[in-house]
Amino acid sequence: MGEPERGALPVVIATWGPNLKANAAAWEVLSKGGYALDAVEAGVRIPEADPLDTSVGYGGFPDRDGNVTLDACIMDEKGMAGSVSFLQHIMHPISVARLVMEKTPHVMLVGDGALKFALEQGFKKENLLTDVAKKAWEEWKVESKYKPIINVERHDTIGMVAIDTQSRIAGACTTSGAAFKMNGRVGDSPIIGAGMFVDNEVGGAASTGLGEMVLRTLGSFLVVEEMRRGAHPQKAVETAVKRIIRKYPKQCEEAQVGFIAVDKKGRHGGYAIQKGFNYVLYQRGKNEVFEAGYKLIPGK
Ligand code: ASP
Repeated sequence: MGEPERGALPVVIATWGPNLKANAAAWEVLSKGGYALDAVEAGVRIPEADPLDTSVGYGGFPDRDGNVTLDACIMDEKGMAGSVSFLQHIMHPISVARLVMEKTPHVMLVGDGALKFALEQGFKKENLLTDVAKKAWEEWKVESKYKPIINVERHDTIGMVAIDTQSRIAGACTTSGAAFKMNGRVGDSPIIGAGMFVDNEVGGAASTGLGEMVLRTLGSFLVVEEMRRGAHPQKAVETAVKRIIRKYPKQCEEAQVGFIAVDKKGRHGGYAIQKGFNYVLYQRGKNEVFEAGYKLIPGK
């Protein structure tokens, strides 16, 4: 018999392989004994500021009217949460979400109200539509077909969960949402319990992919509740994916949803509807990409 699986703290996990750099920024905080909440904020700010990441923050693909609208949420070890949605012109929605949590009596601010709050807090108004994203939108307009593409270049939404050396768990999730969505559309990413959820007694989870499916099933909350009932994180993410497939089998043939999870012991898991989802884990000083398991074989 092999050794029983042991996790180790600190640990940080995030959706999608290209987010190794985001993980490294979070690890920088964690490895010095820093706070999990600071780690996840620092981590997801990396793709938010990266113009080449076309599904998060600056450089994100716009909605069908050409507006870059951002969604983000954050949650700490005390179960406090902050979120912004349909926020425009601000490069770091995750930091605005953190201030919603810390400085207001609310959990969620949206649209113009979120922008007003961000400007009051000293954030700068910026143009987030890059030439590359604008060109992609102009090309999309020729046919104007709304069809989410599975695993768009494998760097969609970043969802991240970290546990620091004091066993404090925090999570963050940030996105520009589905490319060429309807104006006003909000997905799972800023919704506590859908795009991300942590509970310090248990662990945390985050999702990526077609947000509508995660919204309907409150996927990240489900993953955490499965772990609360004793499931290993890998089993917990599989349960959430299988639930979606059972309820929406037809839609799943052409859609992707992936979940990541980590439990309080530092054990982790990742799983998706379709092949092609990967995630990054920084643990025991090593930052690694994992290919997630999946349930559906495309075309079958
Ligand atoms: N889940 C995000 C949304 O639906 C998109 C993504 O992960 O690519 O807004």
